Amino acid sequence: VYDATTDVDVVVIGAGQAGLSAAYHLRRRGLAPYADFVVLDADDAPGGAWAHRSPSLRMATVHGFHDLPDFELPPPDPAAPAREVVPGYFAAYEAKHALPVVRPVRVRSVSSRPDGRLLIATDAGDWTAKALINATGTWSRPFLPYYPGHFTGRQLHYADYRGPAEFAGQRVLVVGGGASAIQVLSEVAEVAETVWVTRREPVYRDGPFTEESGRAAVALVEQRVRQGLPVRSVVSVTGLGPSVAYRRAEQLGALHRRPMFDRLTEHGVAWGDQELAVDAIVWATGFRPEVGHLAPLGLRSSGGGIRIDGTRAVDDPRIHLVGYGPSASTIGANRAGRAAVNEIVRLLGAPTGAYR
Ligand code: FAD
Repeated sequence: VYDATTDVDVVVIGAGQAGLSAAYHLRRRGLAPYADFVVLDADDAPGGAWAHRSPSLRMATVHGFHDLPDFELPPPDPAAPAREVVPGYFAAYEAKHALPVVRPVRVRSVSSRPDGRLLIATDAGDWTAKALINATGTWSRPFLPYYPGHFTGRQLHYADYRGPAEFAGQRVLVVGGGASAIQVLSEVAEVAETVWVTRREPVYRDGPFTEESGRAAVALVEQRVRQGLPVRSVVSVTGLGPSVAYRRAEQLGALHRRPMFDRLTEHGVAWGDQELAVDAIVWATGFRPEVGHLAPLGLRSSGGGIRIDGTRAVDDPRIHLVGYGPSASTIGANRAGRAAVNEIVRLLGAPTGAYR
């Protein structure tokens, strides 16, 4: 049905936490599925990035998962893999709220038509819309920093990490100062010798994450995107908390951090003339926002990022980015979905009839 151009009011790209929150609020605010809005998702099945996380990430080791609006996740078995629990919950959520998700549809580009509508070109036909909510996350853009030299052993990014089994008995170097590095260390150190390197001295938080520290961290990231600077993850400014994974890594003696090496060698890494041989390197070095398809809109500022006010692109009020920068967490994505829809409804002058 969607092989010709389909006209809607709003297109949401991505059906992760941020896209589903946006879809829920569009529906609540009286937009009808399909005719008025549609969610285009590149994956074959529900779950967003959660469907791709390592099978070894259990609900007990997830930092903190916030339910989507108006449907609670039943208390999960702490030992259950997050990559099964969360996609199951998202599938039930899409069904309960009758959200119009079309998949698999990969958006290739978004451009502006002379008539003022947006053209959303995909691998499964084209859509046009008056407004766009981009909720494409970061999972598909793992970031690998450049270091000179060539290592001939196994190297992988955290996005491809599938648990510790393949590293049994080896010496494994883990790069990165965030929560994913801690998760990898806590698992791999059970079966292998680990070496941890980070660019900066890791910042530790004593207590659990409070509302106040959360707000302060989000405000820092928000300030950067308002200026159009490249996005930093919220986690990068919150510090490492005393999580289950952190405690396990500590018990295993895996948290002795070394500074970043300066080059890769055939069999490992080197700091000056001091070389260390390793069997494998896991790069837990983060992700970047998946926004390449927005390039034709010319939103990138001279600072290298997209300037955002709240969720709205400063240079084009038809475009909202949710799950981006300050809203790249499950709670932030929920709020951003609502905020974006409030502004878009105002922009369109769309109906405000309640959904139930
Ligand atoms: P995603 O879940 O990544 O969804 C994006 C969707 O967009 C995907 O379905 C994808 O297929 C689709 N898509 C992408 N590009 C296109 C395209 N061109 N066309 C069509 N569809 C497209 N946050 C927490 O609050 N708690 C945690 O415990 C937590 N753990 C994390 C662990 C890791 C390893 C990482 C990397 C992040 C973690 N986060 C956590 C932050 C996380 O990014 C957010 O919480 C949230 O899950 C992201 O949701 P999202 O909707 O923005 O993106």
